[in-house]
Amino acid sequence: MIETISNSEQLRDLLTARGLKPTYQRLRILDFLNKHSDKHLTAEKIYEALAKKMPVLSMTTVYNTLNSFLKVRLVSAITITGTEVRYDFITTPHHHFLCRKCGRIVDIDVDCPVAKRKSIKGYEIEEIHGYFKGICKECLKKQRKH
Ligand SMILES: [Zn+2]
Ligand SMILES: [Zn+2]
Repeated sequence: MIETISNSEQLRDLLTARGLKPTYQRLRILDFLNKHSDKHLTAEKIYEALAKKMPVLSMTTVYNTLNSFLKVRLVSAITITGTEVRYDFITTPHHHFLCRKCGRIVDIDVDCPVAKRKSIKGYEIEEIHGYFKGICKECLKKQRKH
């Protein structure tokens, strides 16, 4: 199961536990990532959505904040498309599926035998990414109708 976090107190604690001061901007960005964890957005999209509610927010702040989250592995960088970075709030390790028709990136919650490993052949693992590519369920449904 991919866990979700439901309150801002938990987000605050998460930041503190990773050694990051829970500033207003960090909290807002983390809260946004948490609420839209299924979307795997780019930094630009995160900025666009938040700037509407936070006029003082800058693109640089969004980048810097995401980088500080990446450093402490609070988020992971999903590079499944090969051309851009999508950000994913890490709650539980999971893999991703990219639909080549609609471009959607979906969480794949599979029982992966390696996803929970801590080391491999003496190398310590910090992240494991599984990228699956193909056609999503919705697009397959549309295809069948034609
Ligand atoms: Zn699709
Ligand atoms: Zn994901």
